[in-house]
Amino acid sequence: MYRTNTCGELRMAHVGQKVTLAGWVQKVRKMGGMTFVDLRDRYGITQLVFDSEREPQLFEQANHLGREYVIQVEGTVAERTSKNANIPTGDVEIIASSLKVLNRSDVPPFTIEDATDGGDDLRMKYRYLDLRRGCVRRNLELRHRMAFEIRRYLDSKGFLEVETPVLIKSTPEGARDFVVPSRMNPGQFYALPQSPQTFKQLLMVSGFDRYFQIVKCFRDEDLRADRQPEFTQIDCEMSFVDQEDVLQMFEGLVKHIFKYVKDIDFTEPFPRMTWADAMRLYGSDKPDTRFGMTFVELKDLTEGSGFSVMDSAPYVGAIVAPGCADYTRKQLDQLTDFVKRPQVGAKGMMWVKYEADGSIKSSVGKFFTDDQLRTWLERGEAKPGDLMLILAGDTMATRKQLCELRLEMGSRLGLRDPQNFSCLWVIDFPLFEWDEETQRYYAMHHPFTSPNPDDIDLLDSDTGAVRATAYDMVVNGNELGGGSIRIHDAELQNKMFRLLGLSEEDAQYKFGFLMNAFRFGAPPHGGLAFGFDRFVSILAGLDSIRDVIAFPKNNSGRDMMIDAPSAIDPEQLTELAISLDLPE
Ligand code: ASP
Repeated sequence: MYRTNTCGELRMAHVGQKVTLAGWVQKVRKMGGMTFVDLRDRYGITQLVFDSEREPQLFEQANHLGREYVIQVEGTVAERTSKNANIPTGDVEIIASSLKVLNRSDVPPFTIEDATDGGDDLRMKYRYLDLRRGCVRRNLELRHRMAFEIRRYLDSKGFLEVETPVLIKSTPEGARDFVVPSRMNPGQFYALPQSPQTFKQLLMVSGFDRYFQIVKCFRDEDLRADRQPEFTQIDCEMSFVDQEDVLQMFEGLVKHIFKYVKDIDFTEPFPRMTWADAMRLYGSDKPDTRFGMTFVELKDLTEGSGFSVMDSAPYVGAIVAPGCADYTRKQLDQLTDFVKRPQVGAKGMMWVKYEADGSIKSSVGKFFTDDQLRTWLERGEAKPGDLMLILAGDTMATRKQLCELRLEMGSRLGLRDPQNFSCLWVIDFPLFEWDEETQRYYAMHHPFTSPNPDDIDLLDSDTGAVRATAYDMVVNGNELGGGSIRIHDAELQNKMFRLLGLSEEDAQYKFGFLMNAFRFGAPPHGGLAFGFDRFVSILAGLDSIRDVIAFPKNNSGRDMMIDAPSAIDPEQLTELAISLDLPE
């Protein structure tokens, strides 16, 4: 037996017992005639004591231990004289009676502690050492517990987990496909699934009724916004449902997981907000509703002043930052710099201070009377002491900029506590999105999303105005998941492809299998997928999904540890009938 107990197990009740522990040397502390070793495993840390008087030989051996050596120790559990209240095993220590080095270790490139001295790249290169750190391990433990409980919950609701293939044909989810060449079919490629979308729909045609899968998805997109080229979804689909059934079912799942992990009871139904309202009030389809500061539209009140910035803008919008009227010139300049950053893209920012004594100061005071400015403040329900920040420009672009400014003010005012959770559904998304560059419509969700039945008549006449039966769950400004009721009628699906600019042949070539399936009795169906990595990171209170993935990739899509992607042998290329034409 390598061990009788783990390093997280021993307490006062064990005092006097003879035990054997095994683990890694976290730290060696030499104090005169005594050497203390912190022994670590997945379960915790236990202090070992080597006494020069009692066991001179062992003591000598212990003094030669290095960090991260793997050792086995026998000894007796004793009460500690100076207890450590910070760790669960802090009341006891092991008086060592034998020591065996199971394996040596090079000096690790960074300290294996929660507050490590290792930078990001180094930690990723030695991720297996990084994973020894308690704070990283705990994220993966949470991930495991959540995956387990999600499976349990969905099983209890009759969902079957069905695996779908990884080598497939394209599933359009708005990103580029990763492709895999087929040796046996030279010149032909599989795509890795951006999601199991078409397969789960086919499972509904097969009569599976309730499907889920915790599944890897692959999207070749730019990785700036905390994304990973491979990530995990909780993918779900149901038959004979309408939107309400789907929302109820998965609101139930999310509430259950919040209760299970955080012991938070959401007793009220999650609010629902139309996409149009989300854009109008928050400038985002994933509004952070932990705080107010919703947009105030001022265009009609600013008309005709001769101030060209506002006169020429189709949209003038503001937020009211509570209690910020005492912002200094410098603070206002900082905010102006913030909105002018290329990532935000505004040309400038205007402001009105509603001073605590009721007087008004404004950067646009030259163009407007106090009475005029007062009407703005009234519309924004500003109180004395508040600060109104204003942006002007094209409607959609300015709303997005104002969204960034609102989030920035929310952060500055401490209104975005990661331990405070605000969930909602955003519904009634547009079915299509117009792309100026290519001059065509794209599906806002994906091409299998059903139009809102009330808008079907508009498909040809007012395509851009058609609403989808699509929904997103949003938590603290993150899209936690999204889905839709699907088209289950071959004719309507065909029409959808046409509107998206696919010819009959293209549609047949790409999605013939689905269209065929729809000819054999496809039930009405719908579903959604949650971003599992995001779900875990939100509940762990983390900003990045990288921290909840065992072996993540960096921002250039590289795995620094195994050094992938990498070149392959010329013979492999020949076998695949591929020749490379690399840029200089
Ligand atoms: N396949 C969709 C996605 O990956 C989710 C869904 O519509 O169920 O976003």
